[in-house]
Amino acid sequence: MSMPYEEPLVPRTPGARQIPEPPRRGEPGGSPCAICGGKTTGAVWSDEHWTLHPPVGGSLPGAVWLASKVHVDSFSDLPEELASDFGRVAARVEKAMLTALEDVARVHLYRWGDGGAHFHVWFLPRPLGMLEATGMMLPVWEDAMPNVPNEELADAARRIASAM
Ligand SMILES: [Zn+2]
Repeated sequence: MSMPYEEPLVPRTPGARQIPEPPRRGEPGGSPCAICGGKTTGAVWSDEHWTLHPPVGGSLPGAVWLASKVHVDSFSDLPEELASDFGRVAARVEKAMLTALEDVARVHLYRWGDGGAHFHVWFLPRPLGMLEATGMMLPVWEDAMPNVPNEELADAARRIASAM
């Protein structure tokens, strides 16, 4: 794997730590939760516990994010039923992506939680043969490559939804 930038990259040290950290969306002191407020892209698929959404402003058609219907922060905050159900639904999303999209080598999952305090996990299709983007480099490449139209991202997500 390699960075989507020309060498040589110059190492730098991190800046001063910001403690306390600024509040995230959907936590006390932060802006309202965009997911609960319906300010995100609409769900292309949902069941009793989960909703599946396309991104906006992305470069990788087939990228989707899965959110819990209930507003909780992370894995350890999910009710036990949902925590165990996550494996089942993640497998469905992965299989649907591999079925609905062409030329996907592997489906990557990312859960950061640094932007919003509502549980959501990203599923990114690593393009077949794109060995520069293995491992942690895929989201870096996703960020660096030119965005595609949002409609193209939504179309790919709807294809995944129909394979769910
Ligand atoms: Zn929320």
